[in-house]
Amino acid sequence: MSTLIVVGVQWGDEGKGKVVDLLAREADIIVRFQGGNNAGHTLVVDGQKTIVRLIPSGVLHAGKVCVIGNGVVVDPQILVEEIDALQQRGYLTDSALLKISETAHLIMPYHKAIDLARERLRGEGRIGTTGRGIGPTYEDKMARVGIRFVDLLDEQVFGEKLAYNLQEKNIYLGAILKEQALDYRQIFEAYCRLRQRLAPYVINTSRYLHQEITHGRKVLFEGAQGTMLDVDHGTYPYVTSSNTVAGAVCAGAGVAPQQIHGVIGISKAYTTRVGSGPFPTEQLGPAGEKLRRDGGEFGTVTGRPRRCGWFDAVVVRTAARLNGLTSLALTKIDVLSGLPTIRVCTGYEHHGQYYDEVPASAQVLEGVTPIYEDLPGWAEPLTEIRSLDALPANARRYVERIEHLVGVAVKMISVGAGREETILIRPSFF
Ligand code: GDP
Repeated sequence: MSTLIVVGVQWGDEGKGKVVDLLAREADIIVRFQGGNNAGHTLVVDGQKTIVRLIPSGVLHAGKVCVIGNGVVVDPQILVEEIDALQQRGYLTDSALLKISETAHLIMPYHKAIDLARERLRGEGRIGTTGRGIGPTYEDKMARVGIRFVDLLDEQVFGEKLAYNLQEKNIYLGAILKEQALDYRQIFEAYCRLRQRLAPYVINTSRYLHQEITHGRKVLFEGAQGTMLDVDHGTYPYVTSSNTVAGAVCAGAGVAPQQIHGVIGISKAYTTRVGSGPFPTEQLGPAGEKLRRDGGEFGTVTGRPRRCGWFDAVVVRTAARLNGLTSLALTKIDVLSGLPTIRVCTGYEHHGQYYDEVPASAQVLEGVTPIYEDLPGWAEPLTEIRSLDALPANARRYVERIEHLVGVAVKMISVGAGREETILIRPSFF
């Protein structure tokens, strides 16, 4: 197997950063294919915490090539800052190790202004956007007025496209959103400076990946967010603005379906969600508080407290089917230590109807009653454990029950934030 997709199978923040970082050891190339700089993976290497938002997490491994695919929307300012920060720590010193798709779309200052102003106007009805301009950039991509890296490389084309967009956006910002107009010159000059920094990295990444896969190089595709945030298959409208399912690799990296060989889903041993939207297994009492406290469940980029609840097999089962998972990695099981009883949601009930998968209607999902199964907990801390056999019997039973309910084999269990705090049930994933 030479290509592997990693996707989150809940509402994001599943600990993908750590798992990708581990899998990256085996890979030659690591690719982002959707989303923007709202991803925010936290990596802990040798006790040092590094947050990457745009560049694939594999960047911390010497000699690996990181690719930002065409499906990603890129804030060039943030990207330059991230490159600078990584270079200061001795990473990414060779420019051949980062490749940016020439057809990836640029996040522009007006996208951020629109994002923030709209969220402010929504008040109570806000959708929980991070205000980084990602949604408005995808809107422009679909409306066919977006600006891509290939446009940025040509000063004249860039100037024309910026002028066209800014004329329209300034009317919208002023008349509808009651915001200040943005200045053409300022944006033009800032983006020309950014072009000089980023131009050496820009290539046809789809073709590059095709060549490398054909030559048997190991490629890891790194998903951001989670399946329940997919714009088509997630809990719409409380979703992100891109497709997050494994199938999005084909469009977002320009790689053909036959070139995909495996899909690993990342799931927490419980559930969290950031921002608004239905969350059937949410715990507002002490259980939720314990998960938040022991799991450090606060947003990496925003610092917002995450909503916490029991493991929801309905969510992960739906995601397993949508993504075609070939294996599952279960993270943060250490956080469950000390709970006398652990609940697992096996299905939903709503007005006499049973659901084994997530219903499409947000209203129905909001009103479902989770059907729980209670499993005995364990008191022992798990962080030092490195093999399945050494896990307390109840923790092993918990993992087996999840495998059974979801229908996918667990191949990796994460028992702590550090790279080495991992139980590898199958040592190789490629
Ligand atoms: P991602 O966006 O999916 O990578 O998730 P985040 O990085 O937002 O959140 C994962 C958080 O949990 C980070 O702070 C990780 O360092 C931490 N983490 C990852 N795996 C484990 C684990 O198995 N146990 C514990 N206690 N923390 C973990």
